[in-house]
Amino acid sequence: MIDVKEAQQIILSTVRVQPAEECGLSEACGRVLAEDLASPISMPLFDNSAMDGYALRSCDVAAATEDNPVYLTLSGEVAAGDGVESGMMLQPHHAAQIFTGAMVPAGADAVIRQEDVTAEETKITIKRAVKLNENIRFMGEEIRHGDKVLTAGTRLSPAGVGVLASLGQTSISVFSRPRVGILVTGSEIVGATADLRPGKIFDSNSFALAAALRELDIPVTFQKTCIDDRETLQRELIDGLNQTDVLLVTGGVSVGKYDFVKETAAKVGIEELFWRVKQKPGKPIFFGATTDRTKLFFGLPGNPASVLVSFYEYVRPALLSAMGMRGPFLTATIATLKNDFSKRVGLTHFLKGNLASDGTVEILERQGSHMMSSFARANCLVVLGEAVNDLAKGDKVEVHLLAV
Ligand code: AMP
Ligand code: MG
Repeated sequence: MIDVKEAQQIILSTVRVQPAEECGLSEACGRVLAEDLASPISMPLFDNSAMDGYALRSCDVAAATEDNPVYLTLSGEVAAGDGVESGMMLQPHHAAQIFTGAMVPAGADAVIRQEDVTAEETKITIKRAVKLNENIRFMGEEIRHGDKVLTAGTRLSPAGVGVLASLGQTSISVFSRPRVGILVTGSEIVGATADLRPGKIFDSNSFALAAALRELDIPVTFQKTCIDDRETLQRELIDGLNQTDVLLVTGGVSVGKYDFVKETAAKVGIEELFWRVKQKPGKPIFFGATTDRTKLFFGLPGNPASVLVSFYEYVRPALLSAMGMRGPFLTATIATLKNDFSKRVGLTHFLKGNLASDGTVEILERQGSHMMSSFARANCLVVLGEAVNDLAKGDKVEVHLLAV
């Protein structure tokens, strides 16, 4: 049995990054840039005002005080969107009314806020000095033409999409997404519309996995349920592998008489890369790949909480790294425990937790791997390492945020 870190390392070293493709900007959120982006323009594009106010020459008002006000003659107005005529020059002892985002006219070297002046029809009164460059946002002060703005491997957030739009990009090169399949196994599993005869249970794993994949905007190209039967399973695995780059199988991966997933995976060309990790839940997790590593195979233990923990800790990082993302793991942080907790040493525990805005985390009731209700109320996993046993309220613990 290997530990969590080794398992994650094996996965990352097995994943192949998908080829790049072009993607329209409105579909780009969550995608990973396949190339560095050098800015085709400067940002800001031109010197502009940070305030609604008056553009002036700072030297004209250097001596202004409450008792010794300075008067400037008003000469026109520049609104956002107005182009300042080339050759237009603000004359000494003049000011131009200006609005946020409007071009600063030549000759002006500062903007005073409108709240700080008394304005009349043709002149303004100023009672304080204005610093050189005050309230001017300079061309290129954030990004200069040619600067590297975003690098390959960056997963685009809404802000990233906004930056690309501000630079006039309409499409970008991203890594394509792997096609993912879900095969839930178990002769007890039925769909919600079937009648629930004794011994049967509703399938929840395929729904939870499909929802998790939808959050990542990853296409599910194969989704089926399969009974615990060697021949049927073999057919479905072949079918599933043909239609996907990553196949997620749930159930049937432990040591029970009807657990056929591992042996059948081997029959259809999947090489075992690990089986069983020192963790709870999800100890019997299986990971394999075709010999050319073009197809990945996860055998997730069937208990619903094991499935989702395995998804967040292993499958999600594998998918994001196949999509070219640097640092594909859940964001980790340290939180203060709200309740006492005991575990045995030997396994890493992933516990459903609720992290509050004050940095305290509660380990929720009902942690059994067959129990999903606590997961539905959790916003993080509390991760207790193999060596941890008794913990008291106030102790610091590692948490992994269940973010998209
Ligand atoms: P297994 O890994 O096949 O031994 O299954 C472990 C437990 O998970 C059993 O109690 C199964 O009934 C349950 N289980 C397996 N697949 C599903 C599923 N798709 N939805 C809900 N529970 C499942
Ligand atoms: Mg089973």
